[in-house]
Amino acid sequence: MKVAVLSGGVGGARFLRGLIGVVDPLDVSIVGNVGDDVEVLGLRVSPDLDSILYTLTGLADDERGWGRADESWRALETVAELGGASWFRLGDRDIGLHLVRTELLREGVPLSVVTERIAHALGLQAALLPATDDPLRTFLETPAGTFPFQTWFVARGHRDEVDAVHFAGAPEAAAAPGVLDALRGADLIVIAPSNPYVSIGPILAVEEIRDALVSRRVPCVAVSPLVGGRAVKGPADRMLARLAGGTAPEHVASCYDGLIDVLVVDESDAPESPIRGVGRTVVTQTLMSDLPAARRLAAATVHASEALA
Ligand code: GDP
Ligand code: CA
Repeated sequence: MKVAVLSGGVGGARFLRGLIGVVDPLDVSIVGNVGDDVEVLGLRVSPDLDSILYTLTGLADDERGWGRADESWRALETVAELGGASWFRLGDRDIGLHLVRTELLREGVPLSVVTERIAHALGLQAALLPATDDPLRTFLETPAGTFPFQTWFVARGHRDEVDAVHFAGAPEAAAAPGVLDALRGADLIVIAPSNPYVSIGPILAVEEIRDALVSRRVPCVAVSPLVGGRAVKGPADRMLARLAGGTAPEHVASCYDGLIDVLVVDESDAPESPIRGVGRTVVTQTLMSDLPAARRLAAATVHASEALA
């Protein structure tokens, strides 16, 4: 069974780690968010692609929840001593990857090819595809002003309420090579339990990708990132409350109107009545507290689509 997954960083990566335990990793294609990408200290950082890469290759720091395990911070300490920009946390090992990516991009190699090379070197079996090779960047409109994603998220600690999200470059952005083939060749499309607005939103802002989902002939299953109406981590619940009017499964589903057949929700969020626009709701435990839990969620997601066929 070939599975294509739309994914943000940490939540998506946790789900994917479960998924490659229940389907052959060689049959998994990941369409990753690049709206968070940032240039810092002359380096090009792709946080969501790297969270996936590190998690699936066993290099991630599970306790910290982001970045690499066995990390050190000497380079950033030096940056801070010298008065450089140290607000974006980059570990020494992590910087090594960004150096390689940045140099290749500067030589004109597209991000999709750079990502493939790095993924290959790290032994990743699943196909990791950036949604687009074109510049696409997320901006948040807040009462305090409009901020680029990382300024809002990291520098300001996502404290500002969000009135609107927009994706600079999206109208001109084409799907990266491999993305449309992965979506069209899949037996199942999954939207990972990622932030609908800032992780999945930028992927769906690429018109070709949205169109491929609209015209799909196979099931699309979304997994809610909420447990008990709350985000496990991050601002998804606050954003849903303000932008969709609530944090129930129907509000999550409203972010994917016309794009999904099944919504997988946590037991603590079981809806009382059918959700408008969703063929089926699957209720299960969605907290991925460890690898077996992530595998069970992935298996339930795959089965949810089989029951539709
Ligand atoms: P980011 O790009 O690193 O912010 O990661 P994502 O957007 O992929 O994931 C963030 C989302 O993952 C948050 O909204 C969390 O609520 C969700 N999330 C994290 N862990 C879990 C979990 O164990 N279960 C579920 N259902 N959602 C989770
Ligand atoms: Ca992200």
